[in-house]
Amino acid sequence: MHNTEQKFHTKNNVCVFDVNRIRNDFPILCCNVNDKPLVYLDNAASAQKPSVVIEAMNYALRHEYSNVHRGIHYLSNAATQRFEDTRETCRVFLNARHSDEIIFTKNATEAINLVALTWGMNNLQQDDEIILSIMEHHANIVPWHFLRERKGAIIKWALVDDDGTFDLDQFEKLITPRTKVVSLTHMSNVLGTVIPIKEVIRIAHQHNIMVFVDAAQSAVHMSVDVRDLDADFLCFSGHKVYGPSGIGVLYGKREFLNNLPPFLGGGAMIENVTTDNVTYGPPPSRFEAGTPAIVEAVGLTAALNYMIKSDRQAIATHENSLTLYAQEQLKAFNWLRIHGTTRNKGGIVSFTVDGLHPHDISMVIDRSGVAIRAGHLCTQPLMQHYGITAMCRASFGMYNTFRDIDIFVEALEKAYNLFK
Ligand code: PLP
Repeated sequence: MHNTEQKFHTKNNVCVFDVNRIRNDFPILCCNVNDKPLVYLDNAASAQKPSVVIEAMNYALRHEYSNVHRGIHYLSNAATQRFEDTRETCRVFLNARHSDEIIFTKNATEAINLVALTWGMNNLQQDDEIILSIMEHHANIVPWHFLRERKGAIIKWALVDDDGTFDLDQFEKLITPRTKVVSLTHMSNVLGTVIPIKEVIRIAHQHNIMVFVDAAQSAVHMSVDVRDLDADFLCFSGHKVYGPSGIGVLYGKREFLNNLPPFLGGGAMIENVTTDNVTYGPPPSRFEAGTPAIVEAVGLTAALNYMIKSDRQAIATHENSLTLYAQEQLKAFNWLRIHGTTRNKGGIVSFTVDGLHPHDISMVIDRSGVAIRAGHLCTQPLMQHYGITAMCRASFGMYNTFRDIDIFVEALEKAYNLFK
């Protein structure tokens, strides 16, 4: 075992976190890429799937597949039951009060669009203000730009310090009587910064402002409790929490959801349709038009249960140690700049290298089996804020090891020497 691994994983010779046991749960980690063992450091884009997820989806397809909420035959009832079980699992995962506060969407992006285009279109007027942070993913920017374009709303930007720390004072100063929405990422997909979201919500609610929390990055790294946070809306994506792609979750407080108009129209979301009228079903069905992601919901239950049953505190400690270790290693290179070193951050290390394009770096280290992300990371306003166009990003999951980081750092140094 790698020295650092050994030091971290054992305390008084007792194993406190067995990363190898976790790795055994993820079949893809045994793969070779470019004839080298895979080092997967692109978890912020999408995480790999444990066998329990793959097998649960396989079983559903082989034995329990049918459409949901429609038929009254055995398979339809079984599939509907599994689908509604997922809603309950999501309620538990987020500690929501009611399972009808959980809406299934395609992904986090669709969840944000849903709220912007229903609540936002209904509640925003010309010159009303929306506060976003400069480090938002485009998924939490473009839907609000729609409201700027269509309703004349104004977007204001909460900033971060040089090291990526969220500036709470500056945020508070942005609030005016015209502020109607605060929509913020809980954890930045570039800087790793974790926003003091509970405090943000408390301040916003003092001014009767609706708060949307984008938990696409945070949901996998920390426990997200919507009741403790008092979030009005919150979303995450299945594929980033070790579940399948094609399914996302929107949480909304019952009192908000009850007053929202539908988002998409079609089957399953109506109460009654005539030739000249339509009435809509209650939440959550009002927001789930058409056939949903049936098998993906089964996979999501398996993924969330996998996380609920694991020691999330130990995983967070492990990911935090990996992040600090990676930062330490990279700081040794005077040709490299890390973006986002704030103390309260999740398992992400983004950086740029003098004179090298991030795409070139990513392509070259891929030859060593190392997968990282490179580009604008769907955060062009943040890139503009830093005066650059692209970055490299290594992001960690529960199955990554200190050895993964050593291989990555070695490959990076080689890439730099190759180009220099
Ligand atoms: N929000 C954040 C912070 C993200 O990192 C991402 C994806 O990377 C999204 C939203 C969008 O997630 P999805 O593409 O699953 O909708």
